[in-house]
Amino acid sequence: MKKPLMIIFLGPPGSGKGTQAELLRNKFGLEYFGSGVALRKRQKVGDFTGKKIGEVMERGEWIPESVICGLWMDKLEKFKHKRKFNGLIYDGGPRQILEAEIFDVALKWYEWQDIKVIFINISRKESLNRLTKRRQCKKCGRIIPWIGEFKKLKKCDKCGGELITRSDDKFQSIKKRLEEFKNETMPTINYYKKQNRLIKINGEQSIEDVFKDILRALK
Ligand SMILES: [Zn+2]
Repeated sequence: MKKPLMIIFLGPPGSGKGTQAELLRNKFGLEYFGSGVALRKRQKVGDFTGKKIGEVMERGEWIPESVICGLWMDKLEKFKHKRKFNGLIYDGGPRQILEAEIFDVALKWYEWQDIKVIFINISRKESLNRLTKRRQCKKCGRIIPWIGEFKKLKKCDKCGGELITRSDDKFQSIKKRLEEFKNETMPTINYYKKQNRLIKINGEQSIEDVFKDILRALK
């Protein structure tokens, strides 16, 4: 792998891409970029765009591409000046084709060469199950996924706290997220696929096996 590495992580809600992104970060010492985190940070600035981001997200609507692009242009510029920098994980990746296209142009501008696009694939049914049944620790906030051994947990395996179903995991909002994924993100995934850039990973395995497949694919 060449430095800096860019890993774009794509997958439907519940695919476990957040977990895999964290494993990869720890293994290769990569930095993290996620639109959600970056937007909340931007919101805190409290200027016109900051306030509007809050309002638009509150309504559950999409933040326009130009705003998202602004966020990662700032980030990409900063990485250019970092001394110790192995690379970046873009969790969630570009969510619309226009974003993906502009992102490619931006990466070219910053002379980024090693770009990997990983798609963690799970079925719609598996998505639904994992999202409606996953739980969160009331005490430490840890998310307990609805996969394998985790299904049996009665209490948090880290702190022993009580487990509750997350409030955002309501059926209607989940269906909406799955619809959005199908309508908006799938075309983006096909954009990478058509260019033979897509690494497809079977997400319906244990966390360890998914991670092994990813490492194999990155070699
Ligand atoms: Zn806990």
